[in-house]
Amino acid sequence: MSTIKPLTPLEIYKVLQKTNCKQCALPSCLAFAAAVVGGQKKLDDCPHLTDEEKDTLAPTLQARSTPEPRKAEFIDKLLEKMAVLDLEAVAFERGVSCKDGSISILSLGKEFHVDQSGQMKSSCHIIPWVQAPILSYLCYGTHTQITGRWVSFREIKGGIEWRGLFRSRCETPLKILADKHPELLNDIIELFAGKDVDGFDADIAVVLHPLPHIPICICYQAADGDLESDLNIFFDECCGTNLHIKSIYTLCAGLVQMFEKIAVHHS
Ligand code: SF4
Repeated sequence: MSTIKPLTPLEIYKVLQKTNCKQCALPSCLAFAAAVVGGQKKLDDCPHLTDEEKDTLAPTLQARSTPEPRKAEFIDKLLEKMAVLDLEAVAFERGVSCKDGSISILSLGKEFHVDQSGQMKSSCHIIPWVQAPILSYLCYGTHTQITGRWVSFREIKGGIEWRGLFRSRCETPLKILADKHPELLNDIIELFAGKDVDGFDADIAVVLHPLPHIPICICYQAADGDLESDLNIFFDECCGTNLHIKSIYTLCAGLVQMFEKIAVHHS
């Protein structure tokens, strides 16, 4: 049986322009090559790679990618937990309702129904990245109510370790999007039951509830003269208790990908 040799960052780097132009939201081409191999960036994220170059690299990249099996394994574990979860007991404290053996949970103002086997239904089409965070939220061992105190990602338990990835996959791409589409955050408020809030040192601060007791606040400051634009995402202090840091990251990365699609669609 032939084995496919793993693609190394250096092999990808050789094909890149090596200009370190940062359009991929990373500081250098080498960082980009490492991020592609690590699965945090896609070849499409470098606007300078030609279709031919991408076609050459993609098959080897896909052949060695492992996140899918890991994700499937993670979902399987969550489904096992769901099967023995007392839905009625967890419903009230998690801000969801339970009727006829099915949980109704709001994500960004849209209703999702989850049964004991973990099967999900929704009037909006099921978004794949939402499945794992919703199941995690229901099955996670601890839970607390919303505190009204906002903390940064790095202040959440485990956040320091995931901070770099969170910045490069969530905050930076969302800032680039908001720079390009100044109306985006207002659209998000309208589409996803968001709320404009005061009290943050930002031009616009939007609170969203991707899950009932997981409030996040997106703060955006537009560029002003020599001052570059900035975007930060804050979390209610309860988020670190109600969801594992990995699920918080998955949720935010999924949100940003969805916003990117919305922005492309609108433009
Ligand atoms: S966008 Fe492409 S060329 Fe520019 S830094 Fe990133 S990888 Fe390098």
